[in-house]
Amino acid sequence: MSHINDHSQQAMPMTQPHNIQRILLAQPRGFCAGVERAISIVEKALEIYGPPVYVRHEIVHNAYVVEDLRRKGAVFVREVDEIPAGGITVFSAHGVSEKVESSAKLRELPVIDATCPLVTKVHYEAKHYEKDGREIVLIGHQGHPEVEGTSGRVKQTVHVIGTPEEAEKLEVNNPDMLAYVTQTTLSLDETRDVIAVLTRRFPSIKGPGEKDICYATQNRQNAVRMMAPHVQLLLVIGAPNSSNSNRLRDLGAEMGVRAFLVQGAQEVQQEWLAGVTQVGITAGASAPELLVQQVIDRLKEWCPAAVVEGFEGIVESVHFKLPREVRSPILRPSTDNVTQGAA
Ligand code: SF4
Repeated sequence: MSHINDHSQQAMPMTQPHNIQRILLAQPRGFCAGVERAISIVEKALEIYGPPVYVRHEIVHNAYVVEDLRRKGAVFVREVDEIPAGGITVFSAHGVSEKVESSAKLRELPVIDATCPLVTKVHYEAKHYEKDGREIVLIGHQGHPEVEGTSGRVKQTVHVIGTPEEAEKLEVNNPDMLAYVTQTTLSLDETRDVIAVLTRRFPSIKGPGEKDICYATQNRQNAVRMMAPHVQLLLVIGAPNSSNSNRLRDLGAEMGVRAFLVQGAQEVQQEWLAGVTQVGITAGASAPELLVQQVIDRLKEWCPAAVVEGFEGIVESVHFKLPREVRSPILRPSTDNVTQGAA
């Protein structure tokens, strides 16, 4: 759990009775098509090939999801060299660099790629710009696995910047031969500001505008934007390392709402409800609906309130096809090694 609004630092007096009248649920919230696909890939791989299935990195950024898959037989590793020979290997939704892909290939690991197709699209863009002879700027958060994956899709060194200030200070080799791409889960406003600085400083820079920000990130941010004027408290369910969840919390706080990022019901604090009549709830793209329902139950234990489902939002209908490796048993895991645990 974390918070950024100054109000949120002060504990509210417990003497004030809770008076929540409505709990508004953002629409859309929670799982996106890329996360649903990645989780299904691991589940189907376990079904078809049997456990263990080795997953490089957390399949999606959510401890509940990871634990659930671990219980079913998934083994999470940091690098492919921790996977025993022949072990069924899944790359996470965030995507991987070419180096990771080649090291799996070199070891002849049977790989299933759960990279979200929208991240793969950004990989292609970066490669396309490099082929054009352009130097690449990646707007994103240093150290995020998606940023590492995208940076590692091109041969040159990529400039990773996250703020307009960093864009102001950016030094490049050839200002006339530049291109940018972005992480898919950024704040729309911040990205727009960074792009504005880049295009002012480097008028011939090429880039996709805000189109790399994925539909799910945009829709969840728009839903918070619509809901914020109607609530005094916003609870965002998501992991501390989930980029899109953090952006939802930031957006609520920027709009003047006390906003908290919580991993689940156990982190919601009763004193946050003092003086609140309407609570807004949303969830990051990797947070399961079960966690949302548990937060609602906890709030209702403290104060009976009407739940308003789907507050003014749009209904998403995006689905991504599963890869062929989990549509039929075409991989050949090595029976010698797959029963061992990871290093
Ligand atoms: Fe794909 Fe967007 Fe979901 Fe990330 S948040 S997995 S880019 S759909």
